[in-house]
Amino acid sequence: MKPIAQLLKEGTVLGDGGYLIELERRGYVDSGSGREKVGTGKGSGQFTPEVAIENPDALRELHREFLHAGSRVLQALTFFGTREKLDRAGYGAQTEKINHAAVRLAKDVAGDKALVAGSVSRTQLLEREGMGALDKARDHIAEQIRLLKDAGVDFLILETFFHLAEMKGALQCAAESGLPAIATMSFRPLITQCTDGHTPAECAKVMAENGAIAVGANCEQEPKRMLPLLSEMRAAVNAPIAAQPAAFRTTDGCQCFTRQPAFPDDLETIQISRREFEEFGKLAKAEGIGYVGGCCGCNPAYIRALARGLADAK
Ligand SMILES: [Zn+2]
Repeated sequence: MKPIAQLLKEGTVLGDGGYLIELERRGYVDSGSGREKVGTGKGSGQFTPEVAIENPDALRELHREFLHAGSRVLQALTFFGTREKLDRAGYGAQTEKINHAAVRLAKDVAGDKALVAGSVSRTQLLEREGMGALDKARDHIAEQIRLLKDAGVDFLILETFFHLAEMKGALQCAAESGLPAIATMSFRPLITQCTDGHTPAECAKVMAENGAIAVGANCEQEPKRMLPLLSEMRAAVNAPIAAQPAAFRTTDGCQCFTRQPAFPDDLETIQISRREFEEFGKLAKAEGIGYVGGCCGCNPAYIRALARGLADAK
């Protein structure tokens, strides 16, 4: 496989996703209403990636399905795989094991047909402890990136960051590792600014200045809602734009799905159709989006629809 930077130059790259909610629907992940309440430290390991060691066959199968759907990048399931977050879920001692297993599974399936990206997300330390925890967050991210590099990922996808300040630290860790990184913020509750108050355009500029090879947004919004903020980013930077939207419907009043009343136990009632991902694929090229995939609520059927849309656009 060519390196990711080269693929981005040649056209729109089709990614995959999302893993955790799909694996929950298949019965292998518990992230429902019994989930950990942010700040309490109680509850099950919310959205942590221990499935990589507990039910590796389920994860391997989902990777296979994404590859079959046309994904040229498989994301190792290392989301929320920093030591402190895993510790709160009871898996801290297995941080190395989980990160390594997740990368190995993705690489086994990818072979020479897809690249493997290590997924690195926010630590949740800023939400829990405030901005004073920035250095601690950065240390945890640096450790995870070292593990992912040792395990042999081709590049990193820094995703689902709420604070631009934490993303900036993560990009610096990525630069120190020498691995290329795609960087995507998640905007909630509105698409006009991230949690520490920066517009999508400002986020795009800072991410590009800190070395991201593509910048954009992931999770929280369905494609239609996410498109305006992506356009704002595209107008602000020359770097390719990356988008991994969710497959759940949001509203003008609440522009993120994780604050909809349907989250998390009634998500099926706000699921959008795969056709909306096909439409998104058709638009992606015209909108100047260089990397497309999915996030929560998306599955291989949606990625296949997205692939169809991309093909139709050509
Ligand atoms: Zn998501």
